[in-house]
This record gives sequence, C-alpha cells and structure tokens, in this order.
Amino acid sequence: MAAKITLPVTNPQGYYEMRLESIGGLGANLSGKILGELGALYLGLNSANFASYGSEKRGSPVKSYIRWCAPEQEILINSSIETPHLLGLFHERLAGKIPVMAGVKPDAVVIVNTDQSVDVMRDRLKMHGGTLCCIDALNLAIEAKTRVNMVMLGAIAKASGFIPLDALEEVVKDTVGHKYPAALKSNLEGIHKGYNNITVKRFEPDGKYPYQEYKELERDWGYDNSPIGGINPIYGNTISNDLTASREGYIPIFKKDACIHCGMCDTTCPDMVYQFVKGEFKGKPSMVNLGPDYHHCKGCLRCVEVCPTDALTAALERDHDIWKDHVRNQDLVLEKMEFEEVGPNSWMRSESNIENELKY
Ligand code: SF4
Ligand code: SF4
Repeated sequence: MAAKITLPVTNPQGYYEMRLESIGGLGANLSGKILGELGALYLGLNSANFASYGSEKRGSPVKSYIRWCAPEQEILINSSIETPHLLGLFHERLAGKIPVMAGVKPDAVVIVNTDQSVDVMRDRLKMHGGTLCCIDALNLAIEAKTRVNMVMLGAIAKASGFIPLDALEEVVKDTVGHKYPAALKSNLEGIHKGYNNITVKRFEPDGKYPYQEYKELERDWGYDNSPIGGINPIYGNTISNDLTASREGYIPIFKKDACIHCGMCDTTCPDMVYQFVKGEFKGKPSMVNLGPDYHHCKGCLRCVEVCPTDALTAALERDHDIWKDHVRNQDLVLEKMEFEEVGPNSWMRSESNIENELKY
C-alpha cells in the first residue's frame, strides 16, 4: 500500500475535487470509481464518488465526480462538483455545445483526450486560464491494446502532480485486475503510456476568453414542448443516436461486392446501423444492404464477427481520414433532422442518412 499523502490544495470546505466529463462507452464511470477507491484505500484519504448519466447506453453524456479530503475530516456533501481542481475530458468533441469548461478556474488542471496541440485545444475549449494537458489517449490505448480510460487514468495521475503511479497500479490490479486478469498487463501498460505522454502548458488568464460560470445544462426540449414520442437532440439519445464519439478507434469496413445481403449484420447490430433498401440481387428482387451509417456505429465489431463472407472487416478508424475528420468536426447536436409527422409511423433522416444515400 502506498504511503499516506497530503492534499496539495483544497477548497474552503477542505475538499480536493475532480470532475470527469465523458461520453458513454469510454469508461469514465469506471475511472471515477477507481479514483474513489484510490483515495480511500490507497492514499489514506476520505473519498466519495458518484456519476451522473441518462440512459445507460453508449453515446450519452456522462459525468463522474470524485471528492477527496484529509482522513480527520468527513465528506458531508454529495453534490455535483462545480469548480473542480482537476477536470478530465475523455473526448475532444465535448468541447463545443456541452459546457464542460464551466467552473474551471485558473488554478485548475484540465486533461483532454486529443491528438491536437495544447494551443489548438485551448482555443477549442475557450479556456479562460489554467494548466492544460493533452494526451492522445485513443491511439495510445490502441497501441497498448487497452481502453481509453486506462490511459486517461495514467494521464490524470501525472497531471495532478501528487497521485503516485504505484498507488494507481495497485488499485487497478485489485479492481479490474481481479475481474479481468487476462487484460491486466495491457491495462497497466495503458496507465504507463498515459503517465508518460502528456503535453502540458500553463495559460494565464489573459483576457482571450472569459471565465465560464458553472450552470446546469438547459434543454431546448422537455416534457411540455416535445412532440409525442419525445425528442432529445443531444447526441447518443433517442432518434439522433450519434454514437461516433463512443467508438474506441475501430470501425467495420463494408465491401459491397462481397455482400450476399443475408442480413446477419443487421440482425446482430445493436444500433440498427445497416441501411437496407428494396433492390435486386442475382437478378431477383431482394433487400439490398447499402452498408453502415457510421453516424450510428459505436464500433463494437459484432457485425464483423457474424458476416459469413468477409464483406465486413475491422479497421482502425484513424486509417480512414474521411471518418476521422467527420468525427472531429461534427457538431454533437444535430442541426439537420427531417421529420415526417411524429408518433408511431413517423420517420426521420439525419444528415448522415442523406450522405450515405448519396454515397452509395
Ligand atoms: S452479414 Fe455480411 S454478407 Fe450478410 S448482409 Fe451483412 S455485410 Fe452482407
Ligand atoms: S460495429 Fe457493427 S455491430 Fe457494432 S455498432 Fe457498428 S455496425 Fe453495429
């Protein structure tokens, strides 16, 4: 067990506070639990952790909160963390319409999963001031054959300036290591890669961007104004179902010529990604597979496993720049949705459906 530590900084209530902002599927909830256990069981602190998310599925916004204090003090509050000392952003696309930077003061440390530079990310985040750390957690996780959250945990430990690497290793061995022993080596490698590869830059508040006050996200649509059936235009929810940001580096590639239109991929895919239309196959009327609509694909690769003809193969998303750029630049909230009525027989098209119709 690592030695007890003294928190280097606390708020007036005596708490050191961390907030993780993520997208369902990237493992921020588990990271929060691990940090919660780390504080209480390995650093000699008092610790509390809880997470906030909507439907328990990939693609939805996730927040995880961790509060630490000295062992002689009790944690008497269980509220969301508004002005964190440390903020972890598990996906760069969170910079934009979701106010992830709210409450980040100049004494805060921000860690972002991105392959962009700290200067580019400061502008994208409109960061008032503080210490910004960038880590290419997605690609480092692919290299280590682990998940984004392990790399982010290593980066968070390093960026904090006081979380010992050996204590983090211990908690990971005793938690996910017990549950998934075969993945322990890769998970520890991911933590080391995160710890050793952050890029850090300090930005003084220079007036370039104003301080962003913390406020709860306001919804345009609610129970009193959404059409029957409900609409939640935030990514990953209901009909917009944008799962691009929850992918962890892999996508299925569709080879139309090898497809026999058997529908196995469509039956298997949990998110109805495949687009079938009436057509012809071998001179007979048939439903024809147009391929995946990547807008809705979370990259689980189950479709690749079931395809009987190798018409679907797994590929690294980063090798396909068109999708990488699409993911980076796409807004999280769909601007273009076309509706034909609302209710049980309605349909909608997102811009990605329309793109694919043109593409194929
Ligand atoms: S499982 Fe393979 S062959 Fe069958 S429809 Fe899907 S892509 Fe085509
Ligand atoms: S990888 Fe395949 S099965 Fe998984 S969500 Fe994407 S299209 Fe569906």
